[in-house]
Amino acid sequence: MRVASLGSGSKGNSTVIEGREGRLLLDLGFGLKETIRRLARLDLTPMDIDAVLVTHEHADHINGVAAFSRKFHIPAYMTPSTYDAKRMGPLPALKPIQYERSFAIGSIQVEPVVVPHDAREPCQFIFSEESNRVGVLTDLGHISAHVRDRYHDCDLLMLECNYDKEMLASGPYPAALKRRVAGDFGHLSNDQAAELVGSLNLPRLQNLVISHVSEKNNQSALAKSALTRVLCDWEGVLTLASQADGFGWIDLSP
Ligand SMILES: [Zn+2]
Ligand SMILES: [Zn+2]
Repeated sequence: MRVASLGSGSKGNSTVIEGREGRLLLDLGFGLKETIRRLARLDLTPMDIDAVLVTHEHADHINGVAAFSRKFHIPAYMTPSTYDAKRMGPLPALKPIQYERSFAIGSIQVEPVVVPHDAREPCQFIFSEESNRVGVLTDLGHISAHVRDRYHDCDLLMLECNYDKEMLASGPYPAALKRRVAGDFGHLSNDQAAELVGSLNLPRLQNLVISHVSEKNNQSALAKSALTRVLCDWEGVLTLASQADGFGWIDLSP
């Protein structure tokens, strides 16, 4: 398997998961032209994409889905309430999914995991193929016992490090939005992300990707230093998924 990102953050998210057979986009927060431009950086065109999966209806995850799906006749997978929340109109192939009910896209096994976030029916995903296991975990307000259990054993994990507590507290957001971001159904702070990382099966984890970093309430250096505090003897690779560039292909050894 290999994984890349078209971009990550509150202005648009999309991750590419490629298996032996099959290639999918997880979320699509970019418009058509921008998506095509970003795919080209990875030597891909829309014709190379077999499916679009959606985590939840927030604009940075779903804004580009309907246009992309309609224009290129690409099946779109999401929970029924995610579809209903967005009034997306008819899609050429809408595939409703359910929490904890796995399905396959080509040779990639897809496991939707329920997460605590302020959307109607949000989920995050674990992708596996043979012995490889890739977790994507963004847009959640706290680490539930269920999430901790599901994401314990991954070869690659994309993990939200949304905000630094002090930067959020002293930053430009209005009080209500600060409460929402920091709340139990908002986003993960650097400290919350680090706490989860410390409890993972680290000898197995080969790649950890800092994701969904807030441009106003965080700095990648702060996220990095929070994580490295719990990664003392870890031998894997730490990568940043940026808003402008995402990240290039990461290959997982079979
Ligand atoms: Zn988001
Ligand atoms: Zn969200």
